[in-house]
Formats: sequence, structure tokens, C-alpha cells
Amino acid sequence: MALLSIEDVCVSYGKAEAVRHVSLKVERGQIVTVIGPNGAGKTSLLTTAIGMIPSTGVIKCDGQDITRLDTESRVEMGFCLVPERRELFAEMSVHDNLRLGAYSRRDGKAAIQQSMDEVFARFPRLKERLSQHAGTLSGGERQMLALGRALMAKPKLLMLDEPSLGLAPLITREIFRIIASLRELGVSILLIEQNARAALETADFGYVMEVGEIVHSGPAATLIDDPRLISTYLGGGAD
Ligand code: ATP
Repeated sequence: MALLSIEDVCVSYGKAEAVRHVSLKVERGQIVTVIGPNGAGKTSLLTTAIGMIPSTGVIKCDGQDITRLDTESRVEMGFCLVPERRELFAEMSVHDNLRLGAYSRRDGKAAIQQSMDEVFARFPRLKERLSQHAGTLSGGERQMLALGRALMAKPKLLMLDEPSLGLAPLITREIFRIIASLRELGVSILLIEQNARAALETADFGYVMEVGEIVHSGPAATLIDDPRLISTYLGGGAD
């Protein structure tokens, strides 16, 4: 049974339909990506999956219909969204931002400290900058902090909106390497990206979204060699 199942979902802003009859699945332990151009409806899809905007259709977690659940309940079920703008607390230290990630956990200080240690192992740079204000970090470090803070919540499903946005190619590569390594923690990931090549290299399964609709889907390793996608999304095959 899929961890997340989105079935025939539509999202509208007034009369404008941003997401039209989209269905997709994230199986447990998988990294699934939705690629597509600016304005395709990818952010709207994530935002409705976490319950922040209404939709028609059905959203299920482990087979349970959660379409009518509010965001707080979905977070309690283990959903976590890292938004495109990262939304850190700029005036607070790296350490306090990380601690805030664990605010809804009920499993005690030792377990939370263990997660903190795991975050430090994955992002040694955050450990070096623990007392620094989040607002003084570089773009790449801010994305690391956003990911670290999300991991502090011990999510079952991590939803990432454009983690590479505004980052230099070298840092982007590092971020995607870290995202791929999160499989080891048993976290499932729904990754929204305009950087199609990096996303498909990282994911197990991919969906291509255009003007509100899914137009292609398949194993990421197959999509990356699909001539229909290479010319449109993958820069003619060059890296
Ligand atoms: P981007 O990469 O720019 O975030 P996206 O693929 O994530 O693009 P969405 O942000 O979901 O796409 O936008 C899909 C469509 O819905 C666009 O036409 C956008 O203008 C419109 N839209 C998004 N948010 C709103 C809103 N709050 N009110 C009205 N229209 C919106």
C-alpha cells in the first residue's frame, strides 16, 4: 500500500485550474519526483498534499483517506513540507531552528538528541555554525538547515519544493547527494523540481507535469533516457 496516494486531484484558484485530475503515488522508501516548468502546478500539488489549500479528489496515507484532515493532523501523521522559500527563523540560531523542527515530537529528549546527532553527521557544516543566526548562512547552508530542521521532525514523508532553487551547481549537487542519502533513514520523499536532470538522477520514479496535468510518468532511469523529455527538459542530454 502506498504511503501517499493522490487520486484525481484538482486545485483551483477561483476560476483558474492549477492542478487538473492529477494522480500519483509515493511508495514507502521511495524518492518520487515531479518535474515540469514554472507554473505547471507543482507547488499547488504539494500545498494541497499537506492540506494547506483545498482540492477535489482523494488523498490517502497508508490507505486511509486524509482528504478532509487539516495540516496539523497531517504533520502529526508524519508529513513534512520544506517550502521553496525555506522559511527559516533568520534571527534565531542554527541550533534553535533545529530544535524547533522537533517541537511536535513526544518521544523525549534522548530521542531528539539522537536526531540532532544524525543531522550533524549528515550536515557537518551546521554543527560548525550552531550558534550563528540562520539569516547569516549562505544559500546552500540555508537549504541544509531547512532539510535538517525537517529531519528533526522525524518525518515519514518529506515533501521538498525546489531544493535547488537559487543554488550554484556545485552546491546543488551536494544537496541532491544528501537527499539521495536520506533513503537510509527510511524517509520517503516527494521532490518537486525544475532541475529535471538532477531530480531524475536522484529519484526512483518520476512524473512530468505541464499546465496542471501529468503528461508522462515512469521509472526515473527510463525517463532520463526518453527522447521526448531530453529535448524539452534535459538540455539535449548534456549535463
Ligand atoms: P513554480 O515553479 O513557479 O512554483 P509551479 O509548477 O509550482 O510553479 P504553481 O505555483 O503551483 O506552479 O502555480 C500553478 C498555477 O497556479 C500558476 O498559473 C500560478 O500563477 C497559479 N497560482 C499559484 N498560486 C496561486 C494563488 N495563490 N492564487 C492564484 N493563482 C495561483
